[in-house]
Amino acid sequence: MSVRVGIVGVAGRMGQALVRAIQTTLGLELVAAVDHATSPALGLDAGRLVGLDALGVIVNSDLQQVLGTVDVVIDFSRADAVGFTAEVCAAKGVALMIGTTGLDPATQARIEKAAEKIPVLVSANTSVALNVLAELVRLAARSLPPEYDIEIFEAHHRHKIDAPSGTALLLGDAAATGRGERLERPVSLRGSQSGARDPGGIGFSVVRGGDVVGEHDVRFLGTGEQLCLSHVATDRGIFARGALAAASWLVGRPAGRYTMADFLFNKP
Ligand code: NAD
Repeated sequence: MSVRVGIVGVAGRMGQALVRAIQTTLGLELVAAVDHATSPALGLDAGRLVGLDALGVIVNSDLQQVLGTVDVVIDFSRADAVGFTAEVCAAKGVALMIGTTGLDPATQARIEKAAEKIPVLVSANTSVALNVLAELVRLAARSLPPEYDIEIFEAHHRHKIDAPSGTALLLGDAAATGRGERLERPVSLRGSQSGARDPGGIGFSVVRGGDVVGEHDVRFLGTGEQLCLSHVATDRGIFARGALAAASWLVGRPAGRYTMADFLFNKP
């Protein structure tokens, strides 16, 4: 039996990458395709939307109406849409994988509530290699002396809304955890500050432009040496494939909050 997938944000860059990836992944079937009520994609076949043969799945704006046959919803839409997606999935008992970034505390609280009823995996980056990078960052931060400054740089395409990226924050959290600390929110961006930096702090800097899919560098800057760890994404397919594998794993899990690390490294 295939895992039946619904996508929220299907007409977006990631939504379209997911539709394509489902067609080349055994054991998955697209059964619901949702986008915003103002989307020009409404009424189109999801396959045609991405330049493939028709799939018989029409892009719809009513999530509640299409959830009847869905095993897992994958949300790559906008931060202000995610709370609603979580509540609808919880009400219908459908597992939820959230890749959307820039979630505010109120949305996080709605996700927590939904996770009392359904399994919810939230990840700002669903690439397998990027999640390996986060583990390496945790190890480096744990192993190096605390006076090493940590600087996280990220670059994305000109359309990206949130800054720093959810992935930069994920890497900042990994560095802070490695040091036995918590990353304070909101973080401030280098460039909006002048003067000397506090020794050993975790700083962020951002570039936006062109069609950059996603680049992240984490540098540990000591006196006389630097340790540099990097990830470069050149194809959104990596996020789509990771999200689909994680979503399949999520189906049938007990209710609760999960991470990509739970899926990749702590699989039963
Ligand atoms: P995009 O702007 O290309 O697509 C977003 C889509 O969501 C659009 O089609 C839009 O119409 C739709 N949408 C907006 N509001 C909606 C609503 N209320 N209901 C349903 N659909 C709605 O953006 P994108 O580049 O595809 O990125 C989407 C999200 O995924 C962003 O938050 C981005 O940061 C994140 N992202 C995450 C990863 C990851 O690995 N987790 C990777 C890439 C992007």
